[in-house]
Amino acid sequence: MSNGLFESAGQPRAAVPTCAAIGFDSYYRDSVAPIPQPASAAAPSARKHEVSLYQFFAPGGMLSRTHPAYEFRRGQLQMAQSVEQALEEKRHLIVEAGTGTGKTLAYLVPVIRSGKRVIISTGTKNLQEQLFHKDIPFLEQALFPDGEGRLNVCYMKGRNNYLCRKKLYDLTGQPVLSGLEEIEHYRAIAAWEKATQTGDRAELAELPEASALWHKIDARSDACIGQKCSSWDKCFITEMHRRAMESDIIIVNHHLFFADLSIKQQAEYAPDAGILPEVGAVIFDEAHELEDVAGSYFGVSVSNGRVEELCRDVEASLQRNHMLSASISGALKSLRERSMFFFALLPQGEGRFSFENRRDFLEENGEEFMALQQSFTRLHSELENLPSKPEEVFNFARRAQELQVQFGFLMESEDPNTVFWIERRRGGRDKFNVYLQATPIDVAPILKTCLFDKLECAVLTSATLAVGGGFEYMRNRLGLEHARESVLPSHFDYENQALFYVPPDLPDPRTPQFAAKAADRIRRLLEITRGRAFVLFTSYAQMNDVYQRLLGELDFPMLLQGDASKSALLEEFRLTPNPVLFATSSFWQGVDVQGEQLSCVIIDRLPFAVPSDPVVAARVKSIDAEGGNAFFQYQVPAAVITLKQGFGRLIRSLHDRGLLTLLDNRILKKAYGRLFIESLPNYRKTTDLAAVEEFFGAS
Ligand code: SF4
Repeated sequence: MSNGLFESAGQPRAAVPTCAAIGFDSYYRDSVAPIPQPASAAAPSARKHEVSLYQFFAPGGMLSRTHPAYEFRRGQLQMAQSVEQALEEKRHLIVEAGTGTGKTLAYLVPVIRSGKRVIISTGTKNLQEQLFHKDIPFLEQALFPDGEGRLNVCYMKGRNNYLCRKKLYDLTGQPVLSGLEEIEHYRAIAAWEKATQTGDRAELAELPEASALWHKIDARSDACIGQKCSSWDKCFITEMHRRAMESDIIIVNHHLFFADLSIKQQAEYAPDAGILPEVGAVIFDEAHELEDVAGSYFGVSVSNGRVEELCRDVEASLQRNHMLSASISGALKSLRERSMFFFALLPQGEGRFSFENRRDFLEENGEEFMALQQSFTRLHSELENLPSKPEEVFNFARRAQELQVQFGFLMESEDPNTVFWIERRRGGRDKFNVYLQATPIDVAPILKTCLFDKLECAVLTSATLAVGGGFEYMRNRLGLEHARESVLPSHFDYENQALFYVPPDLPDPRTPQFAAKAADRIRRLLEITRGRAFVLFTSYAQMNDVYQRLLGELDFPMLLQGDASKSALLEEFRLTPNPVLFATSSFWQGVDVQGEQLSCVIIDRLPFAVPSDPVVAARVKSIDAEGGNAFFQYQVPAAVITLKQGFGRLIRSLHDRGLLTLLDNRILKKAYGRLFIESLPNYRKTTDLAAVEEFFGAS
């Protein structure tokens, strides 16, 4: 049964050191004194530093002298050298650097030495904050102890994180606030607006994440009138743009980066399009997320909510300006009704599903679609014809036209590289949010033309980019044709730190018998590990089923995704003795629990993407139609990357150790299983429960 890569019962093992819960993160976090954010710009020449990469990273070097928790990491030095070479040669680089490599310093040091203006794009807010508040100040202190040559760094978030002063001032004249809570929030924001330098809502800790008021006054581009705005000079977005133009290092997230890129592409790279300046290089950290994020920004999406938001904005503005005439009210009423009718006619269903039969739909409902389009035309001309109108009305007219064009594309385009689909989500009692979407099937040609052919140097890095030791999958999916490649050696001793167990006797996870047997085995494993586990599922249904089977059966506190927010659950997990968390995909990445508290990660099945998902199905169909084999070229490699991410939750520091379990033994039985095993770090592997007991000293 076994493919020979796993140990079976009775094989002797060397003793494994016991776990000491010393956080590896302290290397970056705890012992680095916070340094105030630098204010002055430095000329690139002043930033050139005499210290070579070797002198910085090697034993006895600058890093070892400036950091008490220093360890020499061969992979870190190698990565820094590769990044420096890519920057010098103006070439692209793709590099897999596992957890523990210290990859942020490995790209930051060469970036600083290069003197180039660089964008660093990350997948998560945590990493953005780590770079801005810890890693860069640490490097500045190490490289420029006397303050000479300090860096000019800017941290940019999406526009909806910033306050729109105009919207706030408009609200001050005629507050449309609902409830005491909103009035309280309004007062807090109005007071804060007078003092803040950035307008970033993160400064307002007391404002709840889901504040309805913030949504009315944030700086999203939809309602922005740009240079014609009376608050333009003191606008936080203008200020952020100005700071970015003066910065050496600009930290963004992938969403902001690709939103900006798609705006530039639509504006055919007009010099004032977008908000990010021209740069010498872009570093994409957590680059395994690029395909999904890029796909969403190079696609088109309209929704019933977006139409309603336009109507609401028009109404509020015209009311405020005493310009709401009967004919405009009529145009808004007609648009609302026709939009509601059109969205109700769309094929039924919940979740994401394909909308392949658009032609048939239009044949049947063409009149209703045309009526909706005419409502946009009517609103547009009503707005255009308003005499001496305020500037924002031009913006509403533009939005009406944009929606009309996008509806036209979504219903009528025959673009063969686009998949058309619908997403319907429950948005309260009897209310549905319906999205009509178009997503590129293959983002590779778009990224090649718009990004990689235009950039001098792109560095793509993550702990999970390689499949079977190579980058063919990633390069093909992203259109990265010419790039240096590197898979770095791990800094962790995976063979001694982690045991990877696959039960050979469980039924196929696709059979009905699986859930009961899996629950039994999970219970047994949790007894051995004394809880301290993430049990991760590929679907909510499976998670709930197994959770219900184990409820009352375990001696350990059980936490369930959905019972509280992700951050609250993680906090509870960290503080509760011997916890067990049952969760799905959102806990597979970006989650960091160090030490003994997390000693076991159990995954129910190989994480193949749901084949019926419209985007996945379209990609599979397209690869097969071109003579490829979608299963081996797309589905298996994508699942390999996801599995690496999920298992990556366990070993977060040199001192962590624990158990990884995959309950899906197709990894042993199927030919493709070998690719999964060969792509994972070299964990010690077993199919024997006794080896698990021995590992935890429980036999
Ligand atoms: S320029 Fe745009 S974002 Fe800035 S204050 Fe004016 S409307 Fe708001």
